[in-house]
Amino acid sequence: MVAPAAFPPPVDPQKEFVKHGLDAEDELIEVGVAIVGGGTAGLACANRLLQLLAEDPETMERLGEVPVAVVEKAKTCGGHNFSGAVVRPGALEELFPELTREDWRKEGFAFGEVTKEAVYLTPTAKTKLRLLPVPPNFRNHGNEILSVSALARYQQRVAEEAGAYILTETSATQLIVEDADGTGAAEGHGAHGGQGKRVVGVRSGDKGRGKDGEPLGNFEPGTDIKAQATVLAEGCWGHITGAAIREFDLAANREPQVWELGVKEVWKVPKPLDRVIHTLGPWPLKLSAKYGQIGGTWLYPMKDAKSGDDMVSIGFVIDLEYADATTSAHDLLQQFKLHPLVKGILAGGERIAWGAKALPGGGYWSMPKLSMPGALLVGDGAGMVDTVALKGVHHAILSGKLAAESIYAALVRGESSFESYEQAVEESRIGKELYQVRNTRQPLQRGFIMGSPLANLMVATKGRFPNGRWPWHRNDAQPMFVGNTRNGYPKPDGKYTFDKLSSVFITGNATRDDAPNHIRVQKHVPREIAETWRWMCPAGVYEIPEDGEDGDESGEVDVIVNYTNCVQCGAITAKGGRLTTPEGGDGPLYQIL
Ligand SMILES: Cc1cc2nc3c(=O)[nH]c(=O)nc-3n(C[C@H](O)[C@H](O)[C@H](O)COP(=O)(O)OP(=O)(O)OC[C@H]3O[C@@H](n4cnc5c(N)ncnc54)[C@H](O)[C@@H]3O)c2cc1C
Ligand code: SF4
Repeated sequence: MVAPAAFPPPVDPQKEFVKHGLDAEDELIEVGVAIVGGGTAGLACANRLLQLLAEDPETMERLGEVPVAVVEKAKTCGGHNFSGAVVRPGALEELFPELTREDWRKEGFAFGEVTKEAVYLTPTAKTKLRLLPVPPNFRNHGNEILSVSALARYQQRVAEEAGAYILTETSATQLIVEDADGTGAAEGHGAHGGQGKRVVGVRSGDKGRGKDGEPLGNFEPGTDIKAQATVLAEGCWGHITGAAIREFDLAANREPQVWELGVKEVWKVPKPLDRVIHTLGPWPLKLSAKYGQIGGTWLYPMKDAKSGDDMVSIGFVIDLEYADATTSAHDLLQQFKLHPLVKGILAGGERIAWGAKALPGGGYWSMPKLSMPGALLVGDGAGMVDTVALKGVHHAILSGKLAAESIYAALVRGESSFESYEQAVEESRIGKELYQVRNTRQPLQRGFIMGSPLANLMVATKGRFPNGRWPWHRNDAQPMFVGNTRNGYPKPDGKYTFDKLSSVFITGNATRDDAPNHIRVQKHVPREIAETWRWMCPAGVYEIPEDGEDGDESGEVDVIVNYTNCVQCGAITAKGGRLTTPEGGDGPLYQIL
């Protein structure tokens, strides 16, 4: 058994992702507030800032010609956004108070209010056991089913109408740091870094480089984007957020971040589903703690208000703590669809979308300090997900809004400290809800049977039991073995079940064949590690050449990385590799996930 952490990716985040000092004034773009990431959190921040600035032309003026800029790597906002998503509506209602939930549905990003719900255990491939009453963390009555990719497209439109400059197809590749006197801050991070250093913006990535990094005919170099405030809203996994956390020692005295991976499909179905369904396993996962598999599924009804179509969102989420290298969220979802509970719902339907994404699972104790001089963290990039209830959209939106309010207040006072944001988050629903479930996931690292009773007790007591701080260990510290979870995966039939590559195809993945490789992994590793990557990656990026597949489950093998298939889910970063920023515009173009 060998842990992925023993084979770290060839990357030096501080050297590669932090730039010390800005380019000359005539070579950079200057904006008021730079927001990295046009997801629900980043765009909530842009929308709220522009609402506040619309009432205050003087401050707007001080922010210059481009008061608010959003840097988004997808072809359009929404293209890389992905969620379940049954959402607590409060934060969105507060962000756009003039809109009703009926308006949300007419705008095409909401698909109906939850009126019925059911939670099942699935002991075997054919059986189910309904849990009554519905466990508190799965109560969704009154929540709304959303598509975050459609919501981000809507938020982009509103932000642009209010004056935001949205740079799509643009990756932010470096955080720019300066000393208080305006010179490049001394290299080094944490307590030993330059004194009084602050974030002064980000650098956008080059475009038009070839496989080996050589400039092609259409080469365009990146640019420094100088800003009075920088908001890191990169979601999961945060490319420059990770470097910022290290540079400013923001994770000191916190638990390490841990991760989960979800694969989702949207189906058009002939018969409407009338309720939200969650299943908690153990099937198709293994019950034995040796496998370390904790996961669950969802089925959410979606009614398209414009076309009248009935759709279903179906997904499988797995904790990336597992130990069996042959665990594959994509294949587990395919297996799950053959359970009679699900087959009946999908019968006669058609799969119209597929996607995959990781989410941060550490919660309260793993959240880094949320601000540093010149910048702050929002949404998933700051780890604001309640994985006990599988909910983060409302926290992403609220954190974006609170960040905007703190930045605005600081700008009005002529200050550059955004520390008031940290307190605002702690006192808001984000701090309160995450605190309640602060210790709930930790017992599950001991397995479903050992961990579930404790976790249930914590949910039932709303976090009053037990007190104190329960620690985590990193997912890449989990030793892996080549097990037999793979034996249960169905052969794709093209009707209910699909392979990885045809799934990537329907994402509209637009990565150039000759793009530079943005995935960093060691290419010669023990078989356990190579198999972990091969099975885990929902996009089929990692291959073990045939001569390595000789049945010997130990020894070292080569790994081939077909990085152009990557859908940027971020999971590799949890299990020993590193997703770095791809060229802007590459990757999927999600429409309804
Ligand atoms: C499987 C799964 C199921 C979920 N189910 C639910 C649910 O049912 N209900 C719920 O409330 N929550 C759910 N969540 C959580 C929820 O989806 C997230 O909390 C929320 O969407 C996070 O929003 P965000 O804006 O912080 O991040 P994201 O939506 O990830 O947005 C980040 C954006 O930043 C861009 N970006 C990142 N780095 C860069 C860079 N360097 N340069 C330029 N652009 C960059 C990305 O392309 C992306 O558009 C689920 C999550 C997953 C993965
Ligand atoms: S290669 Fe891309 S799609 Fe595959 S696990 Fe890594 S980040 Fe996800």
